[in-house]
Amino acid sequence: MAVPKKKTSTSRRDQRRAHDALKSSNYGECKNCGELSRPHHVCAACGHYDGKQVLRTRASEDETNAA
Ligand SMILES: [Zn+2]
Repeated sequence: MAVPKKKTSTSRRDQRRAHDALKSSNYGECKNCGELSRPHHVCAACGHYDGKQVLRTRASEDETNAA
């Protein structure tokens, strides 16, 4: 089995891990309801995509019932 010749110092180990942090995911505002949603994804709050209703959600059903 290969054995490391030198112990990796805490500094060198931590420098290696400097790029390991996770980035927060991207998001934008829904054009319909203004809720934050992921780009290129259906809005989870109102079910709109590209300005069109593509999913039935509880909020959209309430809207149709009220009208
Ligand atoms: Zn929405």
